[in-house]
Amino acid sequence: MMNAKQYVESLRKLNMEVYFQGERIENPVDHPAIRPHVNAAAETYEMAFDPDTEDLVSTTSHLTGEKINRFTHIHQNTDDLIKQVKMLRAISQKTGTCYQRCVGHDGLNALYSITYEMDDELGTEYHTRFVNFLKYIQETDFMCDGAMTDPKGDRSLSPSQQADPDLYLRIVERRSDGIIVSGAKAHQTGAVNSHEIVVMPTTAMGPDDADYAVAFSVPSDSKGLFYIFGRQTNDGRKMEGDMDIGNPVYGTVGGEALAIFENVFVPNDRIFMCGEHQWAGTLVERFASYHRQRYGGCRGGWADVLIGATVAIAEQSGTDKASHVRDKIVEMTHLAETIYCGSLACSVEGQPTPSGACWVDPLLANTTKLNVTRHIYEICRLAHDIAGGMLATLPAEKDFVSERTGPYIEKYFKGKADVPTEHRIRIARLIENMTSGTPLVESMHGAGSPQAQKIGILRLANLQGKKDLALKLAGIKKVGED
Ligand code: SF4
Ligand code: FE
Repeated sequence: MMNAKQYVESLRKLNMEVYFQGERIENPVDHPAIRPHVNAAAETYEMAFDPDTEDLVSTTSHLTGEKINRFTHIHQNTDDLIKQVKMLRAISQKTGTCYQRCVGHDGLNALYSITYEMDDELGTEYHTRFVNFLKYIQETDFMCDGAMTDPKGDRSLSPSQQADPDLYLRIVERRSDGIIVSGAKAHQTGAVNSHEIVVMPTTAMGPDDADYAVAFSVPSDSKGLFYIFGRQTNDGRKMEGDMDIGNPVYGTVGGEALAIFENVFVPNDRIFMCGEHQWAGTLVERFASYHRQRYGGCRGGWADVLIGATVAIAEQSGTDKASHVRDKIVEMTHLAETIYCGSLACSVEGQPTPSGACWVDPLLANTTKLNVTRHIYEICRLAHDIAGGMLATLPAEKDFVSERTGPYIEKYFKGKADVPTEHRIRIARLIENMTSGTPLVESMHGAGSPQAQKIGILRLANLQGKKDLALKLAGIKKVGED
């Protein structure tokens, strides 16, 4: 396993082509827009060595018997799934933000079981290839970016019907030694600080979409692969003083990028699906349920930090004893624990797949993520309510340290007399950072938009079974029943 330092050094060996604000970044690892995300991901490495979290963040490979980082592990049972949720909560409590490594991990787990089932039905050899790749990831402890979301163009059209064929990533050439792919993957969390890009199709597909039904992994610095790093709310502050950033070490949500593939070669041993369109939808569902399982753990720990910051600012302002403030803090806690309950529940109810890997309960996983799309907004609303208008009106750190204006900020932004004004400003900035636009949108659309969860819930809800329960109690016989 790598520790945090080794992870950061390993990234320096990559020769990635990354653009931000119109320029190529020569050294992504140390760029102020990217470094906080690197620091957050690095905790997934470091906490595997911390005696307090070692049991959660590391485990034993079922393939080699070696000690590995849990982010490279295939869930063997419900205990693994439960530990994952607890691990996420612990890492979020430390970082207060996204550490990005989950998406690739979910890709590994989804591909592990799906390649097994595909081989069983179709007589292909994807699972053996995938297991070899997985051993490599476990040995190297590499971070994988899980690349599922295509740009999608006109959402009313299938991949093969798009005016521009690149709007879904596709196979442009089949060769004896591999394939050439082109297209892009959007919103790629942690892509610019990952070692591998694990690509999967983004939706169910028909026979005409066979060239789009493709799964593989390539090194993140492969020829023809490059990235345009996205902007975040207030990201210009990363180039300024650290008081204004709010969470200067770990940043805001996960750094996201558009990953563009221009005629990228994928060798045969890295291809895990190649035209089997009938399996694309199943792979998406498997992956999405794994990813939705996580959110109550990740966002539960994140909410712990935000609740703590809200309690702190209430104390600093002298409002902490007010009954309505206490009630709102309880409400925030209740919402955070509700999403955590959901993540634990879909883990406890996990079932083995034919490959032996354990899958989450998909209905409960969808329910958990749908709750996250709502509860995080409400938790943030309550934090704003308690913290007050200064979240939106605080002057800059430069004004705070200025000889002319600093004393007035010290004087007029003060809360309780014994609390340094700087502490109040720092906590307010942390709340602003955690509740601003980018994290909210992430909680809405990360792991799929709410409508995607509703579609899953409707499909799994067994409405006929529920109706039968009611009819029976009401004494109504089904047609043909005596
Ligand atoms: Fe993991 Fe997603 Fe949470 Fe980031 S937002 S820590 S990738 S579950
Ligand atoms: Fe995400």
